[in-house]
Order: sequence, then C-alpha cells, then structure tokens
Amino acid sequence: MIEISNLRKYAVGGGVRLEADITFTDMLSPYPEKTLYFEVDKANGDMLADDTYDAFVLVPLYLAMFHKQDLHIRGKISKKLYQNIKWYVQKIFCDFSPDLAPVKFTVDGFTSAKRKGNLIGAGISCGVDSLSTIYDHFVKETDPDYRINALFYFDHDLHNQRFDNTGQKLYKTLLRRNTAAAKDLNLPLYALASNSHTFNRVIDKIKKRHISMIFLAQYSCAFSLGKNISRYYTSSGMGYEEIKNFSEHYHNDDLSAFCESYLVPLIQTDRTELIVDGCQYRRVDKLKKMVDWNFAQKHLNVCFKNNLDGSNCGVCAKCLRTLLPLEILGKLEKFSRVFNIEQYRRISFNYKVQCLQKYGEHPFMTENVDFAHENNFPMPTKRDCYVLGNQATIV
Ligand SMILES: [Zn+2]
Repeated sequence: MIEISNLRKYAVGGGVRLEADITFTDMLSPYPEKTLYFEVDKANGDMLADDTYDAFVLVPLYLAMFHKQDLHIRGKISKKLYQNIKWYVQKIFCDFSPDLAPVKFTVDGFTSAKRKGNLIGAGISCGVDSLSTIYDHFVKETDPDYRINALFYFDHDLHNQRFDNTGQKLYKTLLRRNTAAAKDLNLPLYALASNSHTFNRVIDKIKKRHISMIFLAQYSCAFSLGKNISRYYTSSGMGYEEIKNFSEHYHNDDLSAFCESYLVPLIQTDRTELIVDGCQYRRVDKLKKMVDWNFAQKHLNVCFKNNLDGSNCGVCAKCLRTLLPLEILGKLEKFSRVFNIEQYRRISFNYKVQCLQKYGEHPFMTENVDFAHENNFPMPTKRDCYVLGNQATIV
C-alpha cells in the first residue's frame, strides 16, 4: 500500500511549504523523495490549503496504479474528487497505459470546505496554448465570475527534468520572462514550486522511455492553492477532434494529449473548478485568433530548446509548427521580435515537405497542411516530396 499522511505547513528558507509524507508499506520505494510538497513565497503562505489532502491525491494515485499498490490517504479530501477517481479516472488511466492497473483507493473522510476563493486563474508560459486562454478569458471575457484575475507559474520542475545542469537557471529565466509578461497585462503572478517531477523521472527510468503524467502535478499545484482559487483554466494543447483522431499517437506516452478533454472535467474539488480550455480550437486557429495581438507579437515563446536567453530558436519542431501557420497567414514579419525569420526561411521548405509526408500521422503537421489548403497557400508538390524523400527530416 501507498499511504499519504502527516500533512503540515511550515516556513522554509524564504518560503512556506505544504508537505505530506508518502510511504510505501509493502514494497521498497524506488523514489528518493519521501515527501510530496508545494512551496510558495513567504508573502503568499496563507494561500496554501493545509486543511485538505486534495493536492496529494493525483500523483500518488498514478504511482499506486503503476506499482499495483492500494492507495490510502490518512486525511480528508474533497468528496467530488474521491467519487470521480473511484468511478471514472482510474478507468481512463488504464486506457492510457497498459502499465497501470485499478487499485483500492481509500480516504479517512471528506472535507466540508465550500468554494470561497476569489481568484480566477490560469497558467502563463507565453506558449500558444497559454496565450490563447489569456486572450479569450482575460482580454475578451467580460463576466467577472469567469474573467482571469490572476496568473500562475507552477514549477513542478519540468525544466530540471530535461536539463539537470541548467534547470534552476532556466526556471529563473522563465519566471522572470513570465513575470514581465504578467506585468504587461497588469495581472498578479503567483509562483509555486513542487517536487512532483521527481516521481515522473523515476518512472521514466523504470520504463526506459519518457512517459508524461506531469500534468497531474500541475492540477495538484492549483489544488494546493484551493483556498484562494475558485476557477482555474488549464490550457489544452489538443483540440477535441484531434484527441479523438490521434489519441493512439499519444497512448502510453503523454497523458494530457491522450485524454485531457474528458479527464480534466473529472479532476475537480468542491473548492476549485478546473476548466480545460483550448480544445475548441486547433493550434492554427489559436494563432489565427491572436495574430494581430501586440502582446503575442512581443511575448510568444514556444521553443523546445528553452534557451537561457529566453529566445525562440526558430528551427525546432515547436518553433516550426508555429512559424508555418504565421507564414500562411502572411504575418511572419509581425513576429520578428521573437523569432529569427531568416533562419526559418532557410529551412521552411523542408519542413513543409515533412508536414506533407506525415499528413494523417502527426496531429500538428496534419493541421498545418489542412490550414495551408484552407488558405490557398502553396505547399510543395508531390515531385518535391519525392525528390527530397527522407532528407526532409530536419527535426
Ligand atoms: Zn525552437
């Protein structure tokens, strides 16, 4: 069995930490971490909810199902979260990966906490998905019950996971950049750090491949601030149609891309409503909607390479999948402050050929080809594809 217990809140360094023990009672734990924690600046310590284990359920549930161990929470959680996990969420996890099995999930009781926070939140990364949510639900939204009034930067250490040596530097760079962007919007930004990544990293080592369940950590970060957050928009990377058509592409690989359109509506507490936003669009439609937004032209950052200077490389898969729709829309130059357009022009033909070759197999390449056709944008010919062949593989 895996047990979660001893929830406490205490001052650490310049911050305040919400922490619980995670104990394997019937097997040796393969994880170096013996606790799971969420940490904020001292000034925001009151925001951490120490009267519920809601933030300590999702990552332990995944671990329990992976190791075929029952899960017990030695404390209270939201009844809504408990019921949805018991009846629905475990089935979705099993569909996602053959490595996961249903387990017995028990808790000591239920919280009576009702929704009372006044923050309507969303994450900010300055990527396409995050900016699309902010554009719709801050710039365009007028209903104060649904309009974003606070932004969040959750560091569940995704960056350390990818870049062990430069992780902290990169985190600080990204935090600085996102803080500046939030300031431009005149919105407060709350930063929170968690060690949830450690568990994902160990599972990756056991499976010898990258399995992304890190979004569970992100939802948990929002729940750790549940006293203050009443609604939280989590930005989807995939459209409803794409999740339907390409879920096999992400099976046993990326949990959010596999199922977030129907998983997130089940990841709810009595205090905080999580809203999955962005599934109503393809990525290209998000770009089309924001293409004349000066803020996006100044702050858009999508790059896989996560350069320490915060720039977009212009040649990685994510930069290319962003730049081609901008070219199709005739708006490349508008984004010359954040992308090296000349660099892109040098390799864009190869990328277009690659999109045609992967049509129907890869979701973002497929939608880029569709978008070109919808806008009468000339793509390479069949002959070009034949001549370039495998040499078109540039990313
Ligand atoms: Zn890039």
